[in-house]
Amino acid sequence: MSELMIPEARPAPRRSRQARVVWGSRVVTIGGDAPVRVQSMTNTDTVDVIGTAIQVKELSIAGSEVVRITVNTPEAAEAVPHIRDQLDRMGIDTPLVGDFHYNGHRLLTDYPAMAQALSKYRINPGNVGKGEKKDKQFAQMIEAAMKYDKVVRIGVNWGSLDQELLAQFMDENARRAQPWDAKPVMYQALVESALTSAAYACELGYNPDNIIISCKVSGVQDLISVYRELARRCDYALHLGLTEAGMGTKGTVASSVALGILAQEGIGDTIRVSLTPQPGEARTQEVVVALEILQALGLRHFNPSVTACPGCGRTTSTTFQELAKQIDDFLRLQMPVWRNKYPGVEELKVAVMGCIVNGPGESKHADIGISLPGTGEAPAAPVFIDGEKAMTLRGDKIAQEFHAIVENYIEKRYGATV
Ligand code: SF4
Repeated sequence: MSELMIPEARPAPRRSRQARVVWGSRVVTIGGDAPVRVQSMTNTDTVDVIGTAIQVKELSIAGSEVVRITVNTPEAAEAVPHIRDQLDRMGIDTPLVGDFHYNGHRLLTDYPAMAQALSKYRINPGNVGKGEKKDKQFAQMIEAAMKYDKVVRIGVNWGSLDQELLAQFMDENARRAQPWDAKPVMYQALVESALTSAAYACELGYNPDNIIISCKVSGVQDLISVYRELARRCDYALHLGLTEAGMGTKGTVASSVALGILAQEGIGDTIRVSLTPQPGEARTQEVVVALEILQALGLRHFNPSVTACPGCGRTTSTTFQELAKQIDDFLRLQMPVWRNKYPGVEELKVAVMGCIVNGPGESKHADIGISLPGTGEAPAAPVFIDGEKAMTLRGDKIAQEFHAIVENYIEKRYGATV
């Protein structure tokens, strides 16, 4: 009988150039053999030094490895070194990226302390200037990046795509014997805008390793098309993001699908989830989603994972939902301390299951799992550790006892390596 070989789902990753985003002794490598990095952006007024520094700190603690802040006015440019100082005093060495539009060339020239305090500059080729000024002002920004030895992201966005370039492509398309639809022309303009800007930066003497490219659009299919083309056409590191993804479930799902498909194909060296916070929602939610995307794909591990079944008519009580949530919350809460105390704990897998149908099987696949009794089953909850049934819990203290077993397991398995 011939054997059926089922290949791994994930193809080999695209290998890009590697950029080094540096602040002090902190080096965040992007591209090459580095893991896919997580980025985020503040929504505070950059002039508000303390407010911005606090939000950068929150985003960093949530897992953002690089944080972008807008630098839109002279006052914001003046604030940047103070934000950096404040962060350094708080022990946060996360590199900062300056987001520039329209006046970046002037600000980077007039505010050297700001240019130095940032670790990376985001340049939008659609917003650097028009006509003859465009190349000159773009060159000024690249010269600042060379002078201060900073990484640059050439970040195209379809909301601010270079209109002169788009018009040129539209004209060329109109002259085709069989003109393309408008969409592929727009894709082409996005990609060309990024790549011609990158080529120009290199002509100016800028190191291509220090160039990161992005071409953000807000449609899932558009994003996939554009990034596949970018990946085919260049070896720069790519920053991935679905721009203006929206709020809540819609924004989370759209970003997860788009970024997930591309990351699965090995495309993307750094990601940002552009969620609009719902009223009262923490800015850090965009980081939480980005981490979950990478963890779900198995590309990185940030937190122990809790597998829980959805429940069904076999479970009339909510005990297992409560226990799953309790364990998940507990593990996440402990992670800032455990990350250093228990190296490797982020790969822990816990299962909390609702009945005997899939409970024991799923629990055996986890490092530690519990199968709670479903309706009509004997009131016993077998616990599995490293694939073996270790004990059975009974009574009304199952939750507390399981909690203690998980803690004990973590201490034994990961504590000894310190
Ligand atoms: S494990 Fe049991 S309770 Fe959970 S969904 Fe499956 S059948 Fe329902």
